[in-house]
Amino acid sequence: MNKRTDFLPYSTQWISDEDIEAVVETLKSPFLTTGPKVKEFEEVVARYVGAKYAVSFANGTAALHAACYAAGVSEGDEVITTPITFAASANCARYMGANIVFADIDEQTYNIDPHEIEKKITAKTKAIIPVDFTGQPVDIDAIMAIARANNVVVIEDGAHSLGADYKERKVGVTADMTMFSFHPVKPVTTGEGGIIVTNNPDYYEKLLLFRGHGITHTPYAEEQGGWYYEMLDLGFNYRMTDIQAALGISQMSKLDSFIAKRQKLAAYYTEKLMTIKGVTAPHQLLDTQSGWHLYSVQLDPAVLGKSRKQIFEELRSANIGVHVHYIPVYWHPYYQGLGYERGLCPKAEKWYEQALTLPIHPQMDEEDIDIVLGYFK
Ligand SMILES: *Cc1c(COP(=O)(O)O)cnc(C)c1O
Repeated sequence: MNKRTDFLPYSTQWISDEDIEAVVETLKSPFLTTGPKVKEFEEVVARYVGAKYAVSFANGTAALHAACYAAGVSEGDEVITTPITFAASANCARYMGANIVFADIDEQTYNIDPHEIEKKITAKTKAIIPVDFTGQPVDIDAIMAIARANNVVVIEDGAHSLGADYKERKVGVTADMTMFSFHPVKPVTTGEGGIIVTNNPDYYEKLLLFRGHGITHTPYAEEQGGWYYEMLDLGFNYRMTDIQAALGISQMSKLDSFIAKRQKLAAYYTEKLMTIKGVTAPHQLLDTQSGWHLYSVQLDPAVLGKSRKQIFEELRSANIGVHVHYIPVYWHPYYQGLGYERGLCPKAEKWYEQALTLPIHPQMDEEDIDIVLGYFK
């Protein structure tokens, strides 16, 4: 195989001169935080997905935490999520004192299986946090139907799926609340950053309150004086800066072209993999258009004659930034300490043992994919 001279990461940001100019302009403006760029960024994202409201946060994890607060998740509640995700999808409900219930994945899409969710619902279930793993949307209509029948709130973790489509709707218009992350590996970036989109005015108010220390202006201000405000609940300082928001506005104008490029690269991977034995391309549902945050294959070590570890290490030493997303969340020592046992979600565990993430991001080209796949030939 060809060894690359420079490291090919599994994903990376793409910052242009106009992005840099937008940030510099804000640095020279009167507002570095709580200024007009934050509002503008929120409007841009809300309009893009077709949601009424958007509230930005310092990062995606803070946004998920706030969504759990808005949903009323509290001590002793149960919250259902997938084990095949980044730890934050579960941690956010732990912050509120909830117990996490892991529901197994669908073998085809690797996303949480709605039937498994249904089996895990109890009288204590307060919320479901489905994750659009790799950028492929979950079956949100099926999940919403289960949630409505059981009076449960749905917080979609769309960290991978900004710009993806589900039945010709953008991810973000269907769930009660949807989170997007703007970490540099995600579809577009603000350095660190996150957002919740929603159509529900009550959730919107609660998200704003939680983001700003639980402080609000009240009707009493008139009587008390113009300086007066009240802290109604224990919130956090989870604000995004105008510097981040300025970068985000500029990045959002490129989202569609980034996604189109990711889709083109994914199609190329999938086509080439048809002739490579022992490496299975990710299956896509016909009514979804993935944003292709990750390209995750299943390896068959028996066919390839090598273990995943060996394949991973050989590709890494050839400067190809393969990765594994994700270790089942409840395998981590913290969750093991809470009493979760191995074998809880057998499909997820089996999937994990064979998973490998191949590089995909808009600055790559087909030649890069030829080099990656050259390893398997
Ligand atoms: C990145 C990510 C998050 C958290 O986002 P941050 O902005 O890094 O805090 C949550 N869930 C998933 C699935 C992610 O990939």
